[in-house]
Parts: sequence; C-alpha cells; structure tokens
Amino acid sequence: MRITRRTLLMGAGVGAVSVLLASCTPDPEPTPTPTPTREPQPQPGVPEPSARLRSSWTTDPFSYGAVSFTPVGVLAETRSQLARPVVDRVFFAGEATDVDEPGTMRGAIRSGARAADEVEDLAEAGERIAVIGAGLAGATVAARLAAADMQVTVFEARDRIGGRVHSVVDDSWPMPVQLGAWLFGEGDDDLRERMEAWEIGTVDLAPEQWHTPDGDADPVDPQPLQAAIAAAQAAPADVALSDALVEAGADPEDPSTAALLAYLATRAGADAAELSSWFPPLLPAAPVAGARDDLTPLVEDALDGVEVSLSSPISRLAYDDAGVSVRLGTGEALSFDRVIVTVPLGVLQEQDLEFDPPLPFVNRTAIGTLGMGRIETIWLQFDEPFWDTEAAIWHTVGADVGIRTWINLRPATGENILVGIVGGAAAEEFADLDDTEALESAMESLAIYAP
Ligand SMILES: Cc1cc2nc3c(=O)[nH]c(=O)nc-3n(C[C@H](O)[C@H](O)[C@H](O)COP(=O)(O)OP(=O)(O)OC[C@H]3O[C@@H](n4cnc5c(N)ncnc54)[C@H](O)[C@@H]3O)c2cc1C
Repeated sequence: MRITRRTLLMGAGVGAVSVLLASCTPDPEPTPTPTPTREPQPQPGVPEPSARLRSSWTTDPFSYGAVSFTPVGVLAETRSQLARPVVDRVFFAGEATDVDEPGTMRGAIRSGARAADEVEDLAEAGERIAVIGAGLAGATVAARLAAADMQVTVFEARDRIGGRVHSVVDDSWPMPVQLGAWLFGEGDDDLRERMEAWEIGTVDLAPEQWHTPDGDADPVDPQPLQAAIAAAQAAPADVALSDALVEAGADPEDPSTAALLAYLATRAGADAAELSSWFPPLLPAAPVAGARDDLTPLVEDALDGVEVSLSSPISRLAYDDAGVSVRLGTGEALSFDRVIVTVPLGVLQEQDLEFDPPLPFVNRTAIGTLGMGRIETIWLQFDEPFWDTEAAIWHTVGADVGIRTWINLRPATGENILVGIVGGAAAEEFADLDDTEALESAMESLAIYAP
C-alpha cells in the first residue's frame, strides 16, 4: 500500500498533476480516555478498572452512527436502490448497500466485490478510478480494480485505514482494543480464512450466561422471537419487531425477552420498535468468535500497491456521462473516469458529501428511508477479576442498567478484560455521557456480577 498523507501524485486529465494536501484532518475517534475530571462513584464489589477505552461512533463525523438497519416498512431491496450506479460513472458500495448481510464485515466485503463487478463490466484497463473510503468495502473494490490494471486512488477522510474496523494497539492493553467490528459467527468461513491467512488470532466466546440480580437465569430461547418473525413475514404488511412479538403473544418488556432484544440491538444498532420484522437483523450464529489481534491487516492487505490518500475528506462529487470531478476538503478538484462511493449511510444522510447534480430520486429515497443504527462499546481492564464466572458472553436479565451485554475475555485470553456493548437508544444515551459518567454506568451495570 502506498499511503500518502500530504502529497498525492496522480494522472488527472492530461498529464500528471501534483497536489499538495494542505492540512491533515485528525481522526475524530477517541484516544485513550484521559483521567476523568472527578472520581467515579464506587460500586459495591466492582473495583475501578486499571484501563478503559470507549467508542464514539454516534457522533463520529465520518460515520454518524454504527451500522445501517432496515426500518419497519422499508424493503431490503431499498439497499439495491441505494447501490444503483448513476450514469455509469458513480457507483456505490459499503455495508448499507448489501441486501443480504448489511451491518456486517461480510456485507461490506461483498458490496465491494459487487461494485467491482459493475465497474469491470464497463471500464477499460488504464481508466482513472477514485474510491471514496478505505474501509473493508473500499479496500475490496480498490484491490479488484487495481488488479484489473485500472489507476485506482483511494481517498480516506481519517488518518488511518479500516473505517468501522478499528483495532487500537496501545501499550496499556495486553491485546488490541476493538472499537468497531470484531465478532463473527458460524458461517463466517471466508472471514475466518482471511484472518488465518494474516495470522489474526481468534477466540471462541462460549458459553453464554443469562444473569439476574438474584443469580443465574435459564438461557433465553430465541425461538419465540423467530416464530414471531415468521408469523409477521406471512402477514400482508410489515410491522415493527416489537409489534410482531406482541401479536405472537410475547411481551417485549418481559425481562428475558428484553435481554434478548438488548443483545439484538448490539448487532442491529436499533431497538425492536424501529426494526422491520420482514427484514430483521440476524444474531451471530453460535458459537460466537472474536478477533484477538489487530484487524488492520485485513484492510491493509487489500490495499497493497494501491495509492491511498489519508486525511483526505471528499466534500463534493460533480459528474456527467464523461467523467467525475472529485473535490477534496482543501478545495482541490481532481478528474477521474469513475468513482466508487463507500462512505457510511450516515455520511450520505448528513449530506456531508455533495453530489452535483443531485443523485436521482431512487438513490436519495433509499438514503432517506434506510436507518443508521447506534452501537457503542467500552473496554475495561482490571488488575484482578472481581467476577467468578467462566461464561464468555453475559446477558443481564431484569436489571435496569445502561449496559446489558458483556463479553468476558478472561476465559479465552487469560486477560481481565470485560467489554460492554450497547445498541439502539441505550447506545445513544451512552454516547451522551462524559467519560466519568460512562465509567459509572459501566460499573453500575457490572455490580450484579460481583459475588
Ligand atoms: C461498534 C461497531 C461494532 C460492530 N461490530 C461488528 C461485528 O462484531 N461483526 C461484524 O461483522 N460487523 C460489525 N460491525 C459492522 C462493520 O464494522 C461494518 O459493517 C463494516 O466495517 C463497514 O465497512 P464499510 O467499508 O462499508 O464502511 P466503513 O468501514 O465505515 O468505511 C467507509 C470509510 O469512508 C470514510 N469516509 C467517510 N466520509 C468520507 C469522506 N467524506 N471522504 C473520504 N472518506 C470518507 C470513513 O472514514 C471510512 O473509513 C460493527 C460496527 C460498529 C460501528
């Protein structure tokens, strides 16, 4: 991968043009949490962690959320409309454009491959191609088109590659902290193979535990939820997942069902009241596994040999049937034959990337009707474990706490690390907290796991 931060040399129009990117845009994502301004309120049995790190995808200006979701009343095919190429010059990829597995690493990779197919059908070797975004989708499409002898340049707004795959490697942690994607389930063989190829270690996260303030509870059976979805899918109109449950005789407020729905929200980024029951999100198929190493090589490998310009947010794309002009944040405009846009749905919804002329109605309708979900995570490292369970995934049942899904990395890694994950409205609330409040919320949520 040839990454340039300040200078970018490429062919544009006639002859080569050298462009100076005047300023670097700092990555807006969090650095290790600074010392809180006040001490967190102690929680009985829960010591203060020795290290902590949290995500902030909800406010991140290069994603404005975590993953796309299909709201009630919206068809999955809307994603194909979002992906519809415009005048054979502007193409779209990214997890939100994948009909079958949106909101996942797999979906992002698949979308990049699909966009590469579309471009390859039209373009010739030697064409100048711009890819906007260096996440999994952008890296996949860039690799394919570079291999087809096109002149590919990837523009990435952040000062790093990977996008929503973000492994933070920091001396105060014994393993990389995953602020974005890192979990996968059975059936993710392709992903597993890629990780193996790059010697990215994985750990199995089993068993699961369902825990109440009074002790362990029976595992929550997802079958009633699946039955409610099946019944709703046979109905003449889509309803929210929560309504589907009610119609099937279940109570979404029941503590066990609510715990399952909280887990679902950590994948969908949305609550059952927002989600379509015709096109519901999938929980990762058990057994769940997680990456224990830096995931960056997944993206880095694909970008090997491709020109990548970091800290280069694109503000405007002007296009016609002859080509595309790509405007950088610095005001410079560069000419390309085609462009593949892989920025997250949230960025398109916020209109931080201007299209001239405006995108056709079909693309704009898709942007407006799909949902951008919220997921946040907090990693906590302790000197000693205060919990006494070997379960790897904890679900909190019947406690009114901020974080109800936890991953215990101690059984698989020997490290005293707990990872809290929240989705939907809970993630939005968590994102609003300052660092001390977030830590308090986490420690309060963990109190029922202290013996
Ligand atoms: C907290 C969290 C947890 C997740 N957990 C999992 C999980 O466990 N398993 C799983 O499979 N998936 C998970 N996902 C989803 C997964 O991360 C995404 O589906 C996938 O990484 C998206 O890849 P992408 O290439 O479509 O988008 P991105 O990775 O977001 O790439 C798009 C790129 O575009 C860049 N960009 C934005 N605006 C501009 C601009 N104006 N100019 C230039 N560049 C721009 C962004 O900086 C970004 O790098 C999770 C996501 C989050 C946020």
